[in-house]
Amino acid sequence: MKNIYVIGVGLIGGSLAKDIKTQNPDVVIHGISRKDTTLEQALSLGLIDKKATLDDIEHADLVIVSIPVDATVKLLPSILDKIPDTGLVIDAGSTKEAICKAVENHPKRRNFLAAHPIAGTEYSGPSAAMSGLFEGKTNIICEVEKTAFKLQEKALDIFKNLGMRIRYMNPEAHDKHIAYVSHLSHISSFMLGKTVIEKEKNERDIFDMAGSGFESTVRLAKSSPEMWTPIFKQNKHNVIETLEEYINNLSHFKELMKQDDFEAIFNEMKNTNHIKDILNGIN
Ligand code: NAP
Repeated sequence: MKNIYVIGVGLIGGSLAKDIKTQNPDVVIHGISRKDTTLEQALSLGLIDKKATLDDIEHADLVIVSIPVDATVKLLPSILDKIPDTGLVIDAGSTKEAICKAVENHPKRRNFLAAHPIAGTEYSGPSAAMSGLFEGKTNIICEVEKTAFKLQEKALDIFKNLGMRIRYMNPEAHDKHIAYVSHLSHISSFMLGKTVIEKEKNERDIFDMAGSGFESTVRLAKSSPEMWTPIFKQNKHNVIETLEEYINNLSHFKELMKQDDFEAIFNEMKNTNHIKDILNGIN
């Protein structure tokens, strides 16, 4: 691989570019973005070697698409139109069903690999890019059988060098499961932040009283609405289902409080402590 094009040089695209360049100093990383200021920032941070445009993709060995998922759905068919026969296109979008559907009948479908690296932070843009973001993290690959075998091998090589574990899933299962562990967590954090901000108009008080528990629970509320709105839109059906279950649990908790049933509340929390074992297992 010589020419790598990264479309969207923010947290995910910038971090991928950083690690790939460190591991392969001879490759040329070309950055593509909507705003020239973003590309200038990526250049000055050393995330990319050159600025490029979508037309330049005809020279690509690898294209990484790391832009909001609505933009990915719109842009992906025209990216595949331009990719050379030997080129590989990988996306990093947090939803997979709409993205896979957008190119299901594309003549160059075999040049595309649908991926979702389960790695990130609450920050966005080129300045959020960091080395080692993907080390030890899981990468979900969807519809692998639809990607040309040689290109699958290329992609797996890249992910292995980044230190990622691979899980294969179909796009529908991906979107259903990710709604629980990622999308609901973000909504929960955003709405916790909103509830506290609305109640505590004096932000100084929040700041003084906020312990590490509040800070860590509300961390995801710092995330970019530009990235998250299209995710909720594309995964609306699954997200609503998770919200209904979550709201039921919150309502049940409130009822137990009203009934002074603190034994039941104790048990609710005791049973949920099991999350420690589950997370230890994951780590
Ligand atoms: P980000 O830091 O906000 O970066 C996205 C970049 O895309 C922005 O710098 C923006 O640059 C550019 N962009 C937006 N629309 C564009 C368009 N139409 N054409 C070209 N560039 C465009 O977001 P991110 O966190 O890296 O997320 C990128 C993708 O990875 C998303 O699909 C997201 O779902 C997925 N993902 C995110 C995480 C996470 O935790 N953040 C984890 C896994 C996967 P401009 O300033 O030029 O607009």
